[in-house]
Amino acid sequence: MKNAALIGNPNTGKTSLFNKLTSSYEYVGNWSGVTVEKKVGELRDNSGLLTDLPGIYSLRPLSKDEAVAAHYLMEESPSLLINIVDASQLERNLQLTLQLVDYGKPVVIGLNMTDVAKARGIEVYSDVLADELGVPVIPLIARTGAGSRELLEKVRELEPPSDGMAAGHLFYGAAIEEAVDRISRELGAASFPKDTRASLRWIALQILENNPAVMDALPHGLNDSLSLICASCSSRLEAEGVSQSIPEYMKHIRTERINRICRKAMDRSHQKPHSLTERIDSVVTHPLFGLPLFAAFMFLMFQITFDWVGNPLSDLLDSFISGPLNNWISDGLSAIHASAFTSALILDGIAGGVGGVLVFVPQIFLLFLMISFIEDSGYMARITLLTDKWMEKIGLSGKSIIPFIIGFGCNVPAIMAARSIEQPKERTLTMLLVPLMSCSARLPVYALFAGIFFESHQALIVLSLYLLGIVSAMLAAKLFSSVLFNGSSSLFVIELPPYRMPQMAALFRNTWEKGKGFLRKAGTIIMGGSVVIWLLTFCGPSGINVDMNDSFLAWIGGLVAPLLSPIGFGTWQAGASLITGFMAKEVVVSTMNIIYHAPGDLLGQQIAHAFTPLQGLSFMVFVLLYTPCLATVGVIRKESASWKWTLFSVGYCLILAYLVSFIFYQGARLLGFS
Ligand code: GDP
Ligand code: MG
Repeated sequence: MKNAALIGNPNTGKTSLFNKLTSSYEYVGNWSGVTVEKKVGELRDNSGLLTDLPGIYSLRPLSKDEAVAAHYLMEESPSLLINIVDASQLERNLQLTLQLVDYGKPVVIGLNMTDVAKARGIEVYSDVLADELGVPVIPLIARTGAGSRELLEKVRELEPPSDGMAAGHLFYGAAIEEAVDRISRELGAASFPKDTRASLRWIALQILENNPAVMDALPHGLNDSLSLICASCSSRLEAEGVSQSIPEYMKHIRTERINRICRKAMDRSHQKPHSLTERIDSVVTHPLFGLPLFAAFMFLMFQITFDWVGNPLSDLLDSFISGPLNNWISDGLSAIHASAFTSALILDGIAGGVGGVLVFVPQIFLLFLMISFIEDSGYMARITLLTDKWMEKIGLSGKSIIPFIIGFGCNVPAIMAARSIEQPKERTLTMLLVPLMSCSARLPVYALFAGIFFESHQALIVLSLYLLGIVSAMLAAKLFSSVLFNGSSSLFVIELPPYRMPQMAALFRNTWEKGKGFLRKAGTIIMGGSVVIWLLTFCGPSGINVDMNDSFLAWIGGLVAPLLSPIGFGTWQAGASLITGFMAKEVVVSTMNIIYHAPGDLLGQQIAHAFTPLQGLSFMVFVLLYTPCLATVGVIRKESASWKWTLFSVGYCLILAYLVSFIFYQGARLLGFS
């Protein structure tokens, strides 16, 4: 009974081949300890079982998920390895191959993606490759199944190499080889491993590479003698003039060998110039230029949303709403002889509150349009790839960037998008941090305040606020991931789709799908909220139709005002707007519209009166960071299934908002700003 394993780099077609080679799933589950799918199936010719291992670039694991393959090789004993190699990326794939040929069990190479290689004008001579590596090579197209029958036949007839060493094993140079011999003798003396799993040579090489998955399995008594051998190997290499560490040096030896193999086994003279996607990717995902380009792209996005297109449109809409529309409504109301109360409720409450928010429809839809463009064009996947390295440093995964970017639109779908992150730790952390992404509901507040105080630098101010949210999220991620969680990060695998010019129709449909929620909110929560808020300004402890300053709203706002005064805006108006803003952050603006009771420009004058520019900025900072809105809190509760995390997200946001505004406001005052 055979027990074969499919092993190879990510995205080389292992799973596709698995489905072609097996007739039925024996078992689908997770590898123990990690959330990586484990698939075992019965080979089509019933000669044994096949295991689909997760993709890896090297046997030396970086994370727990990546360790699955190395643990498997160390602890279970496959009778045969099928190494899937991407023919269009031979150099990169052969690194793993050269580590596998020493394993001590028969290896057969499935040379996959031969169609892709051919389309790119790359020819791989499989017989030359087989000679060079000393193992059989079967060309495949896993997607169609071409070659899978030949592969199965080869698998049936393969015998284990008698001396446990593949013909093509790599000579690593005298220093390494001597260490390998010495380690093998030590292992033999300790009778490790107990049965015939991997070859001693392979284990010794992994020890020299300092592979934790292998080191952990060794008997403890060996540690001292093994480190001695490694140390003497190091110093011998040093004496030979090698400045690299042992693992680096071994990789270097493999790379040289791979280059020699590829010169013989490949013909690239007809290689086609790179496709458009590759050419774009060489710039967009460039290690140096990639991130600045992304930042520039985001800046452009804000320029369009605000300065260039959004604000002029918004101004037009505003003059329509506060001008003709307002007049029509008021004419209509007097035509039906509405009472003074009804007229005030409709004009000051509903029209003021809802209208004040509706004027920001252009900015919000533009932002959604651009997020849809990033998604549909294929750029989103590149951003994921680009940021993964950084995200991993702060305890997140590259995949967290998708919820974060969607979060700029609306936090609710963003938190749902966190489902695609496999690791529970990274998923929870992402959900906690999404509220720091400045959603479009906060835009009306910025647009209002930045328009009043920083008219000529709106895009810059708003972009800084977005960046502040991002930086806070990064710091919080670092803090939370080291204090609240432990556990390793997941293996990052993402497929890069080719770039496509998004279709206009699809783009508009996506934008509409995302943006209609905002309109619905305007018609429900915001309208209802405006009515309630207006009533609270209309009534007070002393009766109805009171002066605004004696109203219930003033009383409620006054309760929190003293708390807010150290951060620059200790007025009941600010307090009341922030409290009502918990319903939805746009309501902050609706409330101000009702309180300051003034359509259009007058509101600006009132606010310019009530706040200094510095206080206005501090207010924007607070609105950015303070408690997520009701709908977001609800979805966090649903997705995390935990009240603890839900309350935590509300609590930490409030504290963070207060701290940052405080430091910002008081710091700026110390520096002499006002
Ligand atoms: P795995 O990550 O190694 O399991 O790779 P998958 O089996 O998931 O395949 C990754 C992608 O490559 C899928 O979109 C496959 O359809 C595609 N694919 C796999 N084999 C071939 C092949 O031989 N030719 C082409 N053109 N595509 C392939
Ligand atoms: Mg797979």
